[in-house]
Amino acid sequence: MGRKRATADFQVIAGAEGNRYRFYCGLSGALMCTTGPCRGDTPEEELLLAWETEGRQHFNECRSCGRYVSNAMYNVEVWECVGCAPYEAEAKFCKSCGAKLDDPGRICPRCGRLLKYPGRENVYDGCGKSEI
Ligand SMILES: [Zn+2]
Ligand SMILES: [Zn+2]
Repeated sequence: MGRKRATADFQVIAGAEGNRYRFYCGLSGALMCTTGPCRGDTPEEELLLAWETEGRQHFNECRSCGRYVSNAMYNVEVWECVGCAPYEAEAKFCKSCGAKLDDPGRICPRCGRLLKYPGRENVYDGCGKSEI
């Protein structure tokens, strides 16, 4: 996939003992991590080293756009950034059958339809098949 990114947005800070890397959330631009000094044979290698050893753990990868984002910008319900999938509020009534929902989950207890993220049903099937 062409849009897959190797790392989050970053900035290099040159230093005597090696370059340090700052990694930023791909959505909010918040600084998530500043690495210790790194040295690699090539800039690409060095960046990947900094990313794998220190940067990566601070980020979530959006399964839709491939951006690396902070926890605050990540919708864990659908494993996508909030730019691709903004959080949806709990439903009070089912949009399909009108059932009142006292204990709203993701699926209507009466008709079985998804109450949230209706366009993303394959996210929840739980058997590993995906159309995306
Ligand atoms: Zn996204
Ligand atoms: Zn329903």
